[in-house]
Amino acid sequence: MVPDMHEHLEQMLTRLKLTAIRDQLDNLIDEAGRRELTIREALAMLCEREIARKDQRRIEMSFGLARFPFVRDIASFDFDAQPSLDKAQVRELSTGRFVANGEAVLLLGPPGVGKTHLAVAIGREVIVAGYTVLFVPATTMVAALAKAHAEGRLEEKLAQLAKPKLLIVDELGYLPFEPDAAHLFFQLVSRRYERGAMLITSNRSVGEWGTVFGDAVAATAILDRLLHHSHIITIRGESYRLREKRRSGILKTPLSTAGITPTHSQQGVSSA
Ligand code: ADP
Ligand code: MG
Repeated sequence: MVPDMHEHLEQMLTRLKLTAIRDQLDNLIDEAGRRELTIREALAMLCEREIARKDQRRIEMSFGLARFPFVRDIASFDFDAQPSLDKAQVRELSTGRFVANGEAVLLLGPPGVGKTHLAVAIGREVIVAGYTVLFVPATTMVAALAKAHAEGRLEEKLAQLAKPKLLIVDELGYLPFEPDAAHLFFQLVSRRYERGAMLITSNRSVGEWGTVFGDAVAATAILDRLLHHSHIITIRGESYRLREKRRSGILKTPLSTAGITPTHSQQGVSSA
């Protein structure tokens, strides 16, 4: 190719933002020649490479924006360790269909059974499927709402939390909420209701949410909306962390999960 034609092409590809094609142009043209592609086939190959790069960029950026606490995926989840868990249901959630439908997912169970792991893993799949995700610890979120409320910026904060297609609220119930916080949480749930999906993890059964929120009326109103279009997954197994420790001999006798968090009863964690 004549040198100025090469440059001209590069400039056009830059202007069209076809950077993957631009950066690998010589290789791609060689490849098309080697495989004796028709012009139509070659064009399709170029488009595929560009789309693959753009998808990769979007996914990486969304992973960053989601603020996951750690990297976990479905592949690294040991389903054999949690026989009570329906693998097919987890796979179904990973397709992101519940996000498209604006549904709620409640992931319930005692500490250490992999709720946060699954929430992150599903969140990542949902991003790959093309949606935006934000992960927030429940206590952080409620504190942020209360602060925004005190500073007269509640509307702004609610709008921000309503934006991602999926909002993951992790570890609801580890600390009881103030009554005011229950009302703020209700406003958030109402805002997202039927518009955006939510995934909530909790160590408390739905029946205990009145106590968690410190306000039975607010809890009922929140649950009314969350349970309307919802998937409830209850993990009943033992803590994975303790299981690993026991295997390596650090713990000898099986501990019942009820003894792990002395401040809260673990009993009654079940689906609604
Ligand atoms: P929870 O949120 O229910 O308290 P986590 O998801 O934080 O529990 O799990 C605790 C740790 O154990 C994490 O590092 C997680 O990746 C790991 N873990 C829990 N369950 C499993 C599992 N079934 N397979 C693989 N790792 C697991
Ligand atoms: Mg957790």
